[in-house]
Amino acid sequence: MRDFRITPQRIVIVDYLLKTEEHPSTEYIHKTIQKKIPHGKPIYSIQNPWSSKREKLVNEIEVEGETRFDAHTDEHINLVCINCGKIEDIDEDLLKEIQSRAAKKSKYLIVKGSFEMFGYCNSCKSKFN
Ligand SMILES: [Zn+2]
Ligand SMILES: [Zn+2]
Repeated sequence: MRDFRITPQRIVIVDYLLKTEEHPSTEYIHKTIQKKIPHGKPIYSIQNPWSSKREKLVNEIEVEGETRFDAHTDEHINLVCINCGKIEDIDEDLLKEIQSRAAKKSKYLIVKGSFEMFGYCNSCKSKFN
């Protein structure tokens, strides 16, 4: 684990990410985590700990220019609400098949897939149709 220093702060962040269903942004993590470690140093960079994506501890997804973190590293679909920004996970076994088909067709060695679908979440959709 080169370039991957485990600090108490990072343990708190990863622990938080593993327990939450949210796909929090950096800013959101700052606000939430800072409360849990009141005497800790301010968290300046959250991206850094996961700069080595091979570790696959946390996935990053880019939604409308904002980085959101996802500790759910199995292949799944991220349903993104374009109104409130909520992201929900849906497990779908077909994704593995889609990946292996894409690999066959392209002869790529596929390492990971990213699946995002955009729409309105259950609480937002009534406002839009
Ligand atoms: Zn919504
Ligand atoms: Zn997700």
